[in-house]
Amino acid sequence: MSRIAYVNGQYVPHAQAMVGIEDRGFQFADGVYEVCEVRGGRLVDERRHMARLDRSLKELRMGHPMSPKALGLVMRETVRRNRVRDGIVYLQVTRGEMRRDFPFPPAGTRPSVIVTSRSHDTAKLEKQAAAGIAVVTVPDVRWQRVDIKSVALLPNVLAKQQAREQGAKEAWLVDGEGRITEGASSNAWIVTRDGVLVTRPLQTGILPGITRSVVVDLIAREGLGFEERPFTVEEAYAAREAFVTSASQLVMPVIQINGRPVGNGAPGLIASQLRRDYHSQAEFS
Ligand code: PMP
Repeated sequence: MSRIAYVNGQYVPHAQAMVGIEDRGFQFADGVYEVCEVRGGRLVDERRHMARLDRSLKELRMGHPMSPKALGLVMRETVRRNRVRDGIVYLQVTRGEMRRDFPFPPAGTRPSVIVTSRSHDTAKLEKQAAAGIAVVTVPDVRWQRVDIKSVALLPNVLAKQQAREQGAKEAWLVDGEGRITEGASSNAWIVTRDGVLVTRPLQTGILPGITRSVVVDLIAREGLGFEERPFTVEEAYAAREAFVTSASQLVMPVIQINGRPVGNGAPGLIASQLRRDYHSQAEFS
C-alpha cells in the first residue's frame, strides 16, 4: 500500500507529494511542527499538541493555516488513509512559498501545511524499552528559543548522528554549566538514589514536551517524589534510574550514559511503571 500525505489541501501518494523549492521551510527552516502519537487509530493528547502548535505559531508570528478543529480532521484522515493503528502523525506548517528574501512574505501568503503518518514497529519499540537505551552527552549549541517547536533542527541532527556513531540511541545536550538540558529529540529525566524524579524546568532552555507534561500529571496522581530543577552530568551518573520522554518513544529507560551504567544497568522500576501507566493519564480523541 502506498503511503498518503496531505499537502496543501490534497491527499497524494508520497512519491507525488511536493512543496515548491522556494518554500520558506526549505529555504530558511521557517516553520514549525508537531508529532502526535497514534494509538488504536486515535490521536493521543491532541489538545495539548494543538495548544503547543498554537503557541509556536504565535511566537514566530505565523498565521494559522486552518482552525485546530479542521487540522484535527486532516490529521485523523491522514491516519485513516495510511491505515495506522499504532504510530505517529507528523504535522508541519511553514510560512509558505515566496521568492527568496529574509523578511516575512507579504500578509496573506498562504502557509504550507503537510501531514504524514506512519506505523510504529511496535515489537521493536517494546524490545527497546525492555532493554533500555544508551545516551551520550554533547554540548548544547542551539539557539535560545528552543521552547518553540521549529523545524530548524540542525544541532539536533548533528547531536543524534554523533550518538549513533558512538553506538547510542539519544544525545543528551549539556549547557555551559555542565547541566543537561534535554535530549536531541526528547526530554531528559533522572531518579535520584532517594527515589525522587528530577527533570529540568520549563523556560530554562528546553522544549515543553507533551509527554513530559503528561508524566508530570501522572507523577502527581501517583504521589511520587518530584523536583523540577536542572541536574548535572555527574548527578546523572550517580542516579538510580534515568529515562527520556517523547511522543514517539513515550517513557524510554536509559541504562547507560557515556558508556557508564545507570543504577544496576537495567531499566529502572519507576521508569518502567510510568511507561506501563502512561496511557491511563493520556487523552484520546
Ligand atoms: N525535546 C525535543 C528537542 C524534542 O524534539 C522532542 C520531541 N519532538 C521532545 C523534547 C519531546 O516532546 P514531546 O513529548 O512533545 O514529543
